[in-house]
Formats: sequence, structure tokens, C-alpha cells
Amino acid sequence: TPHVEPDPRAGAAVKAADRAHVFHSWSAQGLIDPLAVAGAEGSYFWDYDGNRYLDFTSGLVYTNIGYQHPRVVEAIQEQAGRLATFAPAFAVDVRSEAARLIAERTPGDLDKIFFTNGGAEAVENAVRMARLHTGRAKVLSAYRSYHGATSTAINLTGDPRRWASDTASAGVVHFWAPFPYRSPFYSATEAEECARALQHLEDTIAFEGPGTVAAIVLETIPGTAGIMTPPPGYLAGVREICDRYGIVFVLDEVMAGFGRTGRWFAAEHYDVVPDLMTFAKGVNSGYVPLGGVAISAEIAATFDKRPYPGGLTYSGHPLACAAAVATIRVMEDEKVVEQAAHIGETVLGPGLRALAERHPSVGEVRGLGAFWALDLVRDRETREPLVPYNASGEAAAPMAAFGAACKKNGLWPFINMNRTHAVPACNITEAEAKEGLAALDEALSVADEHTV
Ligand code: PLP
Repeated sequence: TPHVEPDPRAGAAVKAADRAHVFHSWSAQGLIDPLAVAGAEGSYFWDYDGNRYLDFTSGLVYTNIGYQHPRVVEAIQEQAGRLATFAPAFAVDVRSEAARLIAERTPGDLDKIFFTNGGAEAVENAVRMARLHTGRAKVLSAYRSYHGATSTAINLTGDPRRWASDTASAGVVHFWAPFPYRSPFYSATEAEECARALQHLEDTIAFEGPGTVAAIVLETIPGTAGIMTPPPGYLAGVREICDRYGIVFVLDEVMAGFGRTGRWFAAEHYDVVPDLMTFAKGVNSGYVPLGGVAISAEIAATFDKRPYPGGLTYSGHPLACAAAVATIRVMEDEKVVEQAAHIGETVLGPGLRALAERHPSVGEVRGLGAFWALDLVRDRETREPLVPYNASGEAAAPMAAFGAACKKNGLWPFINMNRTHAVPACNITEAEAKEGLAALDEALSVADEHTV
């Protein structure tokens, strides 16, 4: 990390302008106090007061190769000098190349790429494609999911943010996906959870009418909702149900894709190939906004002779595509996907499990690769969660105290409800990962004070 002189006055000016004019996502504007960021590199960022933080959030789980990778920065600069923008209806070298590199890595015959500017737009378009392909209207998605904040995407989202964000969109039906630790089916084992979840999905389809269901949309591994790796056989079972009823299977890999789980796509862990797969975030580590839908040959053929009624001004933006091409090449050359698998197996997984043994506030450790959740509890026996929020929506004492302790120890934590997620850059070094674990160790002692 370069030595940067603290400059609190500059920081105060940045913050004052932010408070005056920036309207922040998901926030009560009067209750927030955003940190003024002075710079970032690799796995770290720093403020204007001389504090440096190890980023265990990868921004919003997207800087899979860390901040300011010189090859990606240079590729964006080079593209800006050559052709900064060009409209989507044209064939542009860097756009074709990004599509080719992505299609070569997606599973099965997902060989056509529709570009968007982010994850929510990818989900919107995947649903539209599924509806047009099947001629059906309903879409099934899981409670405990996050699919984005635009109209259809927020309604597909299962978490409570949906309640206030939009009115229900017609044709979205939620179901329960498996979650052994907090089983909605009261299952005793993973196998039972899997069987009951598949039966519940079948029942939901039966009651909704199989001929009315266009798509089932699932995160391969639900991320924001808690990094819940599905039990063996579940996704294969959903694939089979989709095939039986002619339903389009959409896997949302916006968060789990592009190396996060130690594979290019999380679907590879489960040997399933969806009909449509959404991606964003890690595709170019978010250096320039980009997302998209990878489309199967069969669904792509639907739009061979009939126009696809959808598009975005900045679809396949050259700067974003240049960042994707460079990011994918960096991931290949520096073996970033392998690094994510390795750090999960050798440092993060064992280290987090060791923390769970020492700290009564850790109810469960879940995850793989650079994609981990600690489910924090007040009581390990009953699995009662640590209180996440008070009535005004501010983080309540136990989770807030835990978060403050992380920051005091130089770790920027991802906190959602009663969970903390360890989701660093996929190329985090062993020493950095251990530094993060040590900071978590101290902060969990604070959480322990709130257990029974
Ligand atoms: N889908 C998943 C699985 C996500 O995790 C997210 C964002 O966190 C989205 C969709 C929405 O992506 P975006 O915020 O880029 O619209």
C-alpha cells in the first residue's frame, strides 16, 4: 500500500459535499455517516485520517481481483483513448471479445451474451426472455434471496427490503429453498431438507399451474441472504423439475460467479446447466458497470427470426467490455479462480471454523472459496439470532458493537441482519486472510458478550 499522508481537512470537505448532495442507497439519509475514502489498492482501502482497512466485503462482493489492478486500469485507459463509447447495434472488437471470453467460460451451451449495466438489469432481461420463450407469465423465486433493486428484480427478491421498495409485481410467486441450519421444513438432515424442498417446489408449481410458470429463478448459492450452499442434489432436482414442466431455469450468478466460489461459476460445483444465467460484479471486478445474461442455444433461437424486445443504451459499453477482457485475462494469468478455491480450503474455511469453536456467538460457518458467512447467535442451542436492527432500522447493539470492533481492528466487515460475511478479494494473500481472521477473532469476543 502506498504511503499516503493523512489529510483530515480534505476528508471533511468530501464528506460535507456528500452529506449535502449525495442521496445514498438503502439508507435513512439523516442517520448515516459514510466514511470518506481516499484510495484503495489490492485488498485494502484507506480514509483521509490515516486509517487503513482490510476489505472483507470486496466493495459489494464484486472486486474479485481487488482494487486498482494495473492491467485493468491500463486497459480502460487504452480503450478510452481508442474508442470510449459506441452504440450497441454495432459489432465492436472489444465487445465481441468480452462476449467470447465469457461464453467460453459459462457452462453448457450458454453461448450468447446479452450485456447489461449490472445485475438487476440482467435479472429483468432473463425474466423477459423466459416469458417470451415460454409464452407463460409466472416466475417463481426463493424467499431468502436477493436479485436486485429494479422493479421485477426487487419483487423476485425474497428479503424484507422488498416490502417497502415496490408493490408486488404480477406473477411473482415465492417458495422456500433449502436452508438446513434454519430449515423452513423442520428437516433433521441435509438429505431430508433437499427432498422436502424439492417436494415443496413441486407442490407450489402444481398449485400455481405448471402451464403458467415461465421460469424458476434461483441464486446458485444465495449470497446476500446468507451464503447458503444448497444440499447435494437440490439444484439437479430443480433442473429435472424444469425439464419436466417446460420451465426455464434461471441461475443468478451475479454474486457467486466469476471465481467467487473457487470455480468460474458456482453451478460447476453442482453439475447443473441452467437455461439462462445472469452475471455482473466479478465479470470485470466492477471497475466499469457491466452485467449480462448468458443464453442457451434453444432460448437464443427463439429470437432468431423474431426481435428481442429489450435493450439498453449502454449495453456492452466498450469501457466496461475492455475491463472485462482485461479482468478475465488477469484471472487466467494469475490463477485467481484457483486462488479463491485454495484460500477457502486452506485458510478461510479452517480459520473460520476454528473461530466458531472458540466463540459462542458463532452459530454456523457456511461457504467455500472466498464466499463465507458466520451466522451469529445469542444462543447456540436455540439458534436465536443476534439482534440485527432496532425499530428505526439502525444496527442494534450486538451487531453494531461487533461491526465497530472489526473496524477498530482494521477490518471492514460485511454485515447483514445477524450475519457477517467474509467475502474478500478472490486473490487475497494468505497473510492478508490471516490478518482478517485475527481481527474477526477480537471482534467476535465483543459479540460473545451478548450471548446467553
Ligand atoms: N443478483 C444477485 C445474486 C446479487 O447479489 C445482486 C447484487 O448484490 C444483484 C442480482 C443485483 O445486482 P446490481 O446491484 O448490480 O443491480
